[in-house]
Amino acid sequence: MANILTFVELTRQGGIAASARGLLAAAAGLGTPVAVVATPAALADDVVAGLGALGAAAVYQAVGPDAATVLGTPALEAMTLAVAALEPAAVLAANSVDGREVAARLAVRTGGALIADAVSVRSDSGKIIAGHSVFGGSYSVESAVEGGLAVITVRQGAIEGTAPAGSAEVTTVALPQGTGTVRIDAVHDAPVTASRPELRGAKTVVSGGRGLGSKENFALVEQLADALGAAVGASRAAVDAGYVAQTAQVGQTGVSVSPQLYIALGISGAIQHRAGMQTAKVIVAVNKDADSPIFEVADFGVVGDVFTVVPQLIEALAARPR
Ligand code: FAD
Repeated sequence: MANILTFVELTRQGGIAASARGLLAAAAGLGTPVAVVATPAALADDVVAGLGALGAAAVYQAVGPDAATVLGTPALEAMTLAVAALEPAAVLAANSVDGREVAARLAVRTGGALIADAVSVRSDSGKIIAGHSVFGGSYSVESAVEGGLAVITVRQGAIEGTAPAGSAEVTTVALPQGTGTVRIDAVHDAPVTASRPELRGAKTVVSGGRGLGSKENFALVEQLADALGAAVGASRAAVDAGYVAQTAQVGQTGVSVSPQLYIALGISGAIQHRAGMQTAKVIVAVNKDADSPIFEVADFGVVGDVFTVVPQLIEALAARPR
């Protein structure tokens, strides 16, 4: 089977970023999944074992100090070396800030082609085909590369399941030094306000809209999110009204999410909001207006007041046997 390279992002602590699971699952459906990393020091054994558990048949690590001090380029160098050595049929990266940058630059460098924001990938007679949800989720379309290497960014959370676990064989190469010009002087972690999962890639998202009415009332969204172990999202109207930080905005000009469960509270379902959540596996909406467009995409809808429905839901969740 052909190698499928996955660009695995590492956390600042050297752990495996959450996006790796979906990438390796997608790669396993196309060929032999290979995890590629740029790292300042060789990966710890538990990280290699973790990548094997997520389905990586091989780990290709490019090791050198620039991986910690230079922005973007070390990952590109690692991927370039891996492409030359392993001649993959395709390269997958998360549709994250880093993933998009590496994928685009790799496509240019290898003379291949970039396919952005896929929500599925499949192989048809050896040709790799990516699926996309476009125009606010109104259409599903497919794309393929006619010539050269396919470099595909995959929307986080869009790929379900996990590749079969195994133990990954490790190849270590030296990361070329001094190739990048943008040096990292300092890194400041964004303040974490709660122990909630990160919005991008969360399995469950609870989002609130203008229907919440105030910043104080928006706490109801957070309470339901905490009861479900979910991330908090919001419509742009809720963000613009100051109910919640902009980082929570879901939609065309916010974050795109593909969780297993998306709960929309007091959100009308404007096309710009749907663009960021319509690929969720199950959508639940609570809205007091039965004609609200959110019900057109909801799998389950409750026509009712969020201040009546949501406290009852939180109560029922609390009473649930664990
Ligand atoms: P509204 O449309 O005002 O809807 C509020 C809903 O709450 C209504 O359906 C109402 O029935 C319901 N409601 C009110 N009170 C209650 C209650 N007590 N109980 C239950 N339901 C109640 N929007 C985004 O979300 N994300 C984006 O990324 C985004 N990008 C945009 C980009 C552009 C270029 C433009 C032009 C717009 C963009 N928008 C985006 C804005 C978008 O068009 C909508 O204005 C916005 O999504 C509306 O947010 P909302 O549903 O919270 O508010």
